Amino acid sequence: MVASAIVANKTIEDAFSSLINRIRSYNPFVDIERLNAAYDIGKKAHNGQFRASGEAYFSHPIAVGYLLADMHLDTDTIITALLHDTVEDCDITLQDISDQFGNQIANLVDGVTKLSQIENQSPDKRQAENFRKLMVAISQDIRVLLVKLADRLHNMQTIESINSLEKKERIAKETLEIFVPLAERLGITQYQTELEDTSFKILYPEMRESIQNRLEFLAAESENIFPRICQELQSLILDSGIECQVSGRRKTAYSIWRKMQHRQVSMDQLADIMAFRIIVPNISQCYEALGIVHTRYPMVMGRMKDYISTPKRNGYRSIHTGVIGPLNRRIEIQIRTAEMHDLAERGVAAHWDYKTGRSEKSEGSFGWVQELISLIEMNSGPDEFLENTKMDMYADQVFCFTPRGDLIGLPAGATAIDFAFAVHSKVGRHCCGVEINGKNRQLASELNNGDQVSIKTDTQAKPKAEWEEFVATGRARSAIRRFIREEHLEEFSRVGRALLEKEYRFHNVPLRETAIKASLNSFKVSKTEELFSLIAEGKISVSEVMNRLNPELRKSEKSAKILKRNKSKTNKERSDTFNISGMNPGMALHIANCCHPVPGDKIIGILTTGKGLTIHSRECLTLTKYTDVPELWVKVDWKRNDKKRFAGRIRVILLNEAGALAALSTIIAQQAGNISYMQITKRTSDFFTLFLDVEVVNLAQLKSIITVVRSSQFVESVERIMIQ
Ligand code: MN
Repeated sequence: MVASAIVANKTIEDAFSSLINRIRSYNPFVDIERLNAAYDIGKKAHNGQFRASGEAYFSHPIAVGYLLADMHLDTDTIITALLHDTVEDCDITLQDISDQFGNQIANLVDGVTKLSQIENQSPDKRQAENFRKLMVAISQDIRVLLVKLADRLHNMQTIESINSLEKKERIAKETLEIFVPLAERLGITQYQTELEDTSFKILYPEMRESIQNRLEFLAAESENIFPRICQELQSLILDSGIECQVSGRRKTAYSIWRKMQHRQVSMDQLADIMAFRIIVPNISQCYEALGIVHTRYPMVMGRMKDYISTPKRNGYRSIHTGVIGPLNRRIEIQIRTAEMHDLAERGVAAHWDYKTGRSEKSEGSFGWVQELISLIEMNSGPDEFLENTKMDMYADQVFCFTPRGDLIGLPAGATAIDFAFAVHSKVGRHCCGVEINGKNRQLASELNNGDQVSIKTDTQAKPKAEWEEFVATGRARSAIRRFIREEHLEEFSRVGRALLEKEYRFHNVPLRETAIKASLNSFKVSKTEELFSLIAEGKISVSEVMNRLNPELRKSEKSAKILKRNKSKTNKERSDTFNISGMNPGMALHIANCCHPVPGDKIIGILTTGKGLTIHSRECLTLTKYTDVPELWVKVDWKRNDKKRFAGRIRVILLNEAGALAALSTIIAQQAGNISYMQITKRTSDFFTLFLDVEVVNLAQLKSIITVVRSSQFVESVERIMIQ
């Protein structure tokens, strides 16, 4: 036991010192002290933990660091690698890391930890794209993704020590669906190729085996075939005066398998299993070399691709061609500069300056930033990117999991209600509660990246009007509106119809359904019920509908007014019409719109320029405006024994229940009151607030209406309104 512990420690020490050497090979100024500190903390934190292989756990973070050193990354990234599992698996906190290494490293470790936490969700294939976006959104810093990729690569390199085949297959599948495309997008071919091969080996062992055997066979067919072809190509180009390096390789089993699947061809038909690479000093020589190759060897049609003039979206640049080459072998040739080659192998990592931990071109040149943008398919401009090379590309979105592990992408600020409607409109319509990450939360709770959201439903549950305030998606909003609308349509349309019928009776015109139907378009509705409902909600006035349906009434109304005016000139007591005494004969008058006095209220008249006399309740607050102009005040009173009606205004707070509005209008009608105007000012899930103008003959009638309304089970409160 003691002996094996010593061996393990020795292995770890050795691994760490070769890591340091690897870093020194490209970064002579490496900060050894900080690396040593990270080593001490990581080793202590993981003490007593072991990997599936039986090795001390800390060998893993060191190996991850080594993979990143292969990418020539900066010291902060390597320190992050050494600490990447400490917060998740040990007693170390982010605060500890921040205290010792500063915020930068703490943020990087935090990013990797968050990615590890969502990793277990393992979404299915059609969700993979969203999952990658989630990873990018969570990462904030591209180095978090690089560490995570290296972490996954090392886990794949050592996957054989896991016993369960099922687990191995799950991890390999996830690697192919999530991490391989991510490595590809970031242009890190080295990682990509190895991730592909290790996954392929787990998922399709026989297929890989047979392709490998075939490759071995073809390679063995003629010995030294690679060096011979390399040499022939090299001297051909050197003879034309162009410096070059040529190397050859067999294509990987995975890439051949992909091609076989993609093009539906057999292994035998796949002739070009050999690829050669020609590296030349500059771009124009790339094209010269291409010309030389095509002059010497027959070209295979359709295989030429110029990724120099049109780079791939991950920034990859190179010329590809296929020829019947030396020894009559069909081969693929890639031509590129050394710089393009480095980018092809290391991708994003090639842009990282190990000295500063910042993008080497972040000042002055936008080149690599733009490449990065295009490779992670973002839409917004590069500006936000420049500071600290933060990756805020999906800052306007959140990605959350369903209990089944499906990923749902929503706009930032979205709540559980949006989520419910995004899952299915039925889930939205019947949602009644939510569990977020296993805890009961309110439906209005805002969601965060990576939340696991479980919506509870109840067939009795219904959307509430105030939800509209808590949703960020148009889908949820319109669904809620549609529902609320449908629910109240019937009731509202009944009330709206009554209001309109009354107006028709007043004008003594028959109400014809056909005429209303024909006019629906002009009100931008499709059903009669909707038009009535708009009337009831106060969105369209009764007179507007009247005027549009019966334009001739307008004229006759006008002539009626003229008639009235003419009449009043002859009439000695014009005020008779208005049932008010105490005013000068012939003076125009109207009832104030603020206090809506009815007979029985104590009233006062105010002379208004151009308007004549305005009748206010003596309690009306508007009167305070006139206290210093007593000459405008006219003492008036109601004339008795007249049946003319006046409208009093009341405010009713009504329970938001089916039938409530109909019950209210019935009660008022039973008390012989006429509703002449109605407006809903507020609507929540529990209550409506509405203003009603009720025409009554006197105050006593209004009071009795208020009393009866108040006694209704549907009414929360009712009061007379005497201010505007
Ligand atoms: Mn790890």
